[in-house]
Formats: sequence, structure tokens, C-alpha cells
Amino acid sequence: MTDSAPTTGKRTRDQRTESGSRRDLSWPPQPEALPLPVTDNHAHLDFIDGKEELSVQQQLQLAIDSNVTGVITIGCDLAAARWTRALLDGSVEQPADPALFRNHLRAGVSIHPNTAVEHRRGTDRDGNELPSLEDAIAEVSDLLDHDHMVTIGETGLDWFRTKRADEHARTAQIDSFRAHIALAKEKGLPMQIHDRDAHQDVLDVLDADGIPDRTVLHCFSGDADFARACVQRGAYISIAGPITFKSNDSLRDALAAVPLNRVMVETDAPFLTPVPYRGRPNSPYLIPHTMQTIADVHGVSLEDACAAVQATTAEVYGWSGA
Ligand SMILES: [Zn+2]
Ligand SMILES: [Zn+2]
Repeated sequence: MTDSAPTTGKRTRDQRTESGSRRDLSWPPQPEALPLPVTDNHAHLDFIDGKEELSVQQQLQLAIDSNVTGVITIGCDLAAARWTRALLDGSVEQPADPALFRNHLRAGVSIHPNTAVEHRRGTDRDGNELPSLEDAIAEVSDLLDHDHMVTIGETGLDWFRTKRADEHARTAQIDSFRAHIALAKEKGLPMQIHDRDAHQDVLDVLDADGIPDRTVLHCFSGDADFARACVQRGAYISIAGPITFKSNDSLRDALAAVPLNRVMVETDAPFLTPVPYRGRPNSPYLIPHTMQTIADVHGVSLEDACAAVQATTAEVYGWSGA
């Protein structure tokens, strides 16, 4: 390990949208609780968002009130990964009742594809020096050695923020993705994939290196053909808030093409808040809106959808919230 920088704290999400307008920072109301428990298998609890900051403890308690009884928090750059490990170690926040974290919280860490490009370049967006990509992934490997680290991720490819035509960026992302695949196999951990505008390249890398046993397409964004291609390879898809967006018929077709024993649910909080609260802060307690859409798309009761998704989660991570 080459970098001895201290564990950093949480970070604050941008209060403006990409187009520069101010976001509505009010927290959406608590939805009706789900009839059976589910787990949010991908959230970023290291982000501060909303008019009032919610602690991890508060977010978990609100989630439990919605019957979202498990949350997997993802730290996907070095600062976030260190913070996430410190959270598990009890050194950044301790709940009044230690059983709250023990029973309802698990985590995963990685170097995000876009961050991999910065490590390869040697500087972050503000010009601060960064360790090499190899050293960063070596530290991620060390941070993963904890009983409550249940996944490596998110890794993968992103041609939205860094362009595929940029050879330097493309090579950095592919190298990083391949290193995470190797690490998932070495540690026997499930792997969460971030795929933005990179469906075919993601499949090509998985086919070349061999897909890890438990691979999850987090915030699945492809069409039905791509969903089938993932499931044929043994992968799982995780559905986030965009499934509720009006314009996303092709995403709903993709979900319909996949049996529920291959489907999980997530928030990607604080991002991607489901309808009708799109644009406002997101937190695991808002999963019921997304779960209702999953049930509707599959034409099953909310109860049956929750049971199926929770069983899939337990199968993939060997854990689902108590
Ligand atoms: Zn992602
Ligand atoms: Zn994410």
C-alpha cells in the first residue's frame, strides 16, 4: 500500500443539476411499507444529500420502516472505500444499537471506471496527485478483507463521462475492469458491474476473461436482448429508479424478459430517485416505488415480487437483511 492518507469523511452531492439549475433538496415522504422485506443491493451512503443530512443510522431506520431490511453500501473511489471500511470498523459512525449495522448493513468497494482513468493519469479532476491504478486496486483488495464486505464493485465500463474514442481512457477502464474480475475470482466475491453506454464492450471483456460466478449488472440500463445476453452468461440484473421513468419502455421490456430469480433491486442512492420524486434526494427507504414497478412489469403481486427479489439477493451475496 503506497498511500497513507487518512480516511476521509462523507462527501456532499452537487446541489445543482447537470444543466445548472437548483435541485429540490427536500426528502420525499415515507412510502407505505413493503409487505415482505427486501434488500437495497447498491447505495452510496458516503454521500450527503438533502436539506437535512441523514446519518447512516437514520437512513437504515427509515429503510427498515419501509421493510427494506438490508442495505449494501458501495464505496467506489479510494476515499469512499476507506470511509466504507471505517464505517464497518465502527470508526466513523456508531449507531446507538450496534445490532443495527450488524443485522442490516453490508458493503462493497472498488475503483469506479471513471476514477480508474484518473488514477492512470495520476491526478484527479482538481489536479491532486493520485496513486497509480495498480496501487489503488491493491488497496481496494486489502479493504475488502472484512466479513461484512460482500461484493467488489462497482467496476465496468463507462463511455458517457469518458469517451470510448479516447484510447488512454478506454485502456485504463478495461485494465481496471479486468483487474476487478481477477480479484472477484481470487476472493470468491460477487462483482457489481457499472455499464454506461458500453453494453457490447462489457460482454466482450467478460467473455474474454471469463465471467465471475456471481456477477450483477447494477442499475441495469440495456434492452431485452442485452438482458438475455447477460442472463445467458449467468449474470443477474439489478433494477434501480429509472424503471419507473415514463419514457423507459425498453427498460421495462428488458425486465420482463428476465425471470425474477435473476433480478434484484437497488436505489443507487442518493441518485436516480424513483417517480413520483424524480430529481429529489434518494435513500433506501424509497425502494417501495421501484418494487411496485417490478411487480407490475412481471404481473405478480407486490408480495411475490418482494419474496423473489429477496431470495435472489440471498443467493448472490450469501446475505440479505434480517
Ligand atoms: Zn454505477
Ligand atoms: Zn453506484
